[in-house]
Amino acid sequence: MQLRDRLAPLGFGFMRLPEQEGPDGQLAIDQDTVNAMADEFMAAGFTYFDTAWTYHGGRSEVAIRRALVERHPRESFQIATKLPAWAARTAEEAQAMFGTSLERTGAGYFDYYLLHQLGGDGTALFDDFGLWDLALAKREEGLVRQLGFSFHGTADELADILAARAADVDFVQLQINYADWDNDIIQSRRCYDVARSHGLPIIVMEPVKGGSLVKLPAVAEQPLRDADPSQSLASWALRFPASLDGVMMVLSGMSTPGQLRENIRVMAESAPLSPAELQAVDQARAALAALETVPCTHCGYCLETCPQHIHIPIIMDSLDILAKFDDMHRAQENYGWNAPGEAPTCIQCGACESRCPQHLPIIRHLERAAQLFD
Ligand code: SF4
Ligand code: SF4
Repeated sequence: MQLRDRLAPLGFGFMRLPEQEGPDGQLAIDQDTVNAMADEFMAAGFTYFDTAWTYHGGRSEVAIRRALVERHPRESFQIATKLPAWAARTAEEAQAMFGTSLERTGAGYFDYYLLHQLGGDGTALFDDFGLWDLALAKREEGLVRQLGFSFHGTADELADILAARAADVDFVQLQINYADWDNDIIQSRRCYDVARSHGLPIIVMEPVKGGSLVKLPAVAEQPLRDADPSQSLASWALRFPASLDGVMMVLSGMSTPGQLRENIRVMAESAPLSPAELQAVDQARAALAALETVPCTHCGYCLETCPQHIHIPIIMDSLDILAKFDDMHRAQENYGWNAPGEAPTCIQCGACESRCPQHLPIIRHLERAAQLFD
């Protein structure tokens, strides 16, 4: 693993913006706080803002316009947004999203434009709906400056996509955090290696694993505290991907001014991880992995047998996140994104349990997941 000389810069993710109750009793984005956070972020020298067609039901793109486009010179910041094929029913609907994003943000052009969430069953939709052609044409017209995609699949899938598309993209956005570096499902390390083998710069998402890595169990926190008690858990989580060669940006979805300040402090003032610090991170990862709460090895044998096509290893992973980090939000998010509504569809045929080399009581785990997450 090659390390950078300086940390990669921080990007401001507009995915979990602060909210407050509006006059109609509904939660709305707290625009004044967002504006103040954006100003503070830029005053610290950072300029990259990341949103998506879907974030906050489309209101995140509007918040970008209000915080940046209407208040700062356009060339003083960069906007990234994303096109979700999976949120459209037809090609026409999907293609219209580009114009909607331009209108909501008022950006005039996108510095970075991403096809949103490739990997898994949804990848083909981007071709079926003509979104690659659309995005390439928009870049040709100058409405997109840098084109890429965000990715949530396996390293093998990424290799297949890049075998066909590496020449079309300027960057890729990957889930990278130290806890999932060797995880069989997220495959951070393997995806990083695939992207680097094509020489593509990487934008990192989920460096703090949705917030889980700032509340570690004691056994995982200990090696980090021993290595340097002055570093916060956020610092360890952010500095790991920001230290990797080829990483051009590390995104953090910041919800409060306090989080923003801590992230700015870390990313503006710290150095990349030293070899000794990397060792401490390895120990923390090993300690997390040793907490075998749901000892699924992600071998995938159960997937071959399930007549309901339930993503069993992902559901096991969600239960694992809940047990290790006591983080219901993250566990539910993992389930909701990757296996939404699947646990209750189990017909209890038992085919998976007879194939599982770990002899896991899968049916019982799925019943529990259904109660917790659905
Ligand atoms: S018991 Fe449930 S999860 Fe297992 S194979 Fe049958 S339907 Fe699928
Ligand atoms: S067969 Fe068992 S160990 Fe393998 S992925 Fe399925 S639940 Fe996990």
